[in-house]
Amino acid sequence: MVLGALNVQLWRDTLELTANRAPEFLDITEPVQELVRRSGVQNGIAVVFSRHTTAAIKINEHEPELLKDMEQFLNRLSPMDAAYFHNDFTVRTVNMEDDECPNGHAHCQHLLLGASETIPVIDGCLALGVWQRIFMVELDRPRQREVVVQVMGA
Ligand code: ZN
Repeated sequence: MVLGALNVQLWRDTLELTANRAPEFLDITEPVQELVRRSGVQNGIAVVFSRHTTAAIKINEHEPELLKDMEQFLNRLSPMDAAYFHNDFTVRTVNMEDDECPNGHAHCQHLLLGASETIPVIDGCLALGVWQRIFMVELDRPRQREVVVQVMGA
């Protein structure tokens, strides 16, 4: 297949989301699929990208008991009440906001989850497996978040 022969389109939109707590797995599969539908792209890729260092994007199974397990796993891995240099506001001077909250645990959790997922688009649909769902994972606290969805294809 010669790419130059295709009418490749690039389409983009942003989802705005706010979780209720942290960590929390917000299932964003339907809104992402809706954006893919509106893009008109039949075959290509969708990139789902969190514009934040304490809110992640991850594909996993949406089973309520499993979501509890994964939230507990993140808490065990990097507990909120552990000691973090990032939380020591008597020493720290870089990237301090007026409403800065101690969130070293959320950054450390994010390190393992990552900021994006790439999903093939086939025949106008996300080519997800039966149990695969796309999550925005809030790791810090309820905050307004932006998730950019970019769809490229023809
Ligand atoms: Zn921080």
